[in-house]
Amino acid sequence: MGELTVPFFKPSFSQAEKDAVCEVIDSGWLTTGKVTHAFEEEFADFTGCRHALAVNSNTSGMLLAMEACGVKEGKIVITTPYTFVSTASCAIHLGGDVCFADTEEDSYSISPDSIRDVLEELKKEGKLEKVSAIVPVHIAGNLCNMEKICALAGEFSTEKNKIFVIEDCAHSFPSKTKNGYAGTLGDVGVFSFYATKTITTGEGGMITTNDDSLARRMSRMRLHGMDRDAWDRYTSDRASWEYDIVAPGFKSNLPDILSAVGRVQLKKAETFASKRKKIVEKYNSAFGGCDFLTLPPDGEGNAWHLYLIQLNPAVLSCSRNVFAKELQENGIGISMHFIALFHFSYWQKKYPEFRAENFPNAERHFQNTITLPLWPDMTEEMIGLVIEKVKSAGEKFHVR
Ligand SMILES: *Cc1c(COP(=O)(O)O)cnc(C)c1O
Repeated sequence: MGELTVPFFKPSFSQAEKDAVCEVIDSGWLTTGKVTHAFEEEFADFTGCRHALAVNSNTSGMLLAMEACGVKEGKIVITTPYTFVSTASCAIHLGGDVCFADTEEDSYSISPDSIRDVLEELKKEGKLEKVSAIVPVHIAGNLCNMEKICALAGEFSTEKNKIFVIEDCAHSFPSKTKNGYAGTLGDVGVFSFYATKTITTGEGGMITTNDDSLARRMSRMRLHGMDRDAWDRYTSDRASWEYDIVAPGFKSNLPDILSAVGRVQLKKAETFASKRKKIVEKYNSAFGGCDFLTLPPDGEGNAWHLYLIQLNPAVLSCSRNVFAKELQENGIGISMHFIALFHFSYWQKKYPEFRAENFPNAERHFQNTITLPLWPDMTEEMIGLVIEKVKSAGEKFHVR
């Protein structure tokens, strides 16, 4: 394979990020401090939530969110097989179990009907009060049906057991509905600033919530279960060496060096989103007439993190993998979002019922999907090249 002509992704950085990092280094304060607190405040303002907690990854944030929502041994999390593995692994780390619900037929979103089936089944088995959380994942930035999912959580909660809704927002900054931003539509939202996400700090994440007690728990568990952080110990009147440990916590705080990058990226988020949207419009109009693919689902307020095409096997003589290889050999960087979790050996061994045939929608989506390059600084030439190569591969493999 030669050098790719259109990389799958390239982050958008300018001198401003570099200056912000240098300023932190020169200040001598590297770990979580005033820069991170400012980043949290700005993120809370942007999304309109009461609390934003910076963490070192979405995975760390998901672990904290699930822990605060009561996931532990004997408890259950309901999520989708159509996600990155960390969404589900976090429940296992806490000693809990995962029950999976299929995606919708015509989108990558977890299906509310399928969630209902899982909840009804658990109820029949007398396990309803074991369910701690439902975790929808807004794949590619396209929002799940949050109204229905939150209504289900309410309907199946009991006096003894509240079912929380934790949004995996790794793809959905800044997705927005008339009811607000992703991350504020359930009880907790968890964002990712991983290297390829819509805004990035290299590694990083943010938790959002309007719930004071969840915020308090996550904030403490984020830093060893301490009742105060290093910045507070440095700036408050209380002796700097005094603190209490209220639980065996984790180490998930985001350092100021990375928050400095995040603050600059956050300022550019709207510009990035509108550049992505313009590229999507070009792709949609170029691919709209192609019978060998289906355009990505596009609901209200999509942040367009990724552009996923579905190949139509009925008119193609090749497999998805061969199509993908053809694009790569023609210089187009592609990816796959996601390998459905029931294809991984760990999950197959863990849950024998967790098989492709029980999740027909997720399986079909996975078998036919290719993710095309979509990033703010793509040139017209690059966009044109992607369109040209996808179309020519479609012609090459079209059944006659
Ligand atoms: C990237 C991603 C994660 C993990 O994010 P990290 O910040 O790398 O921990 C979780 N869920 C989804 C859907 C993702 O795409």
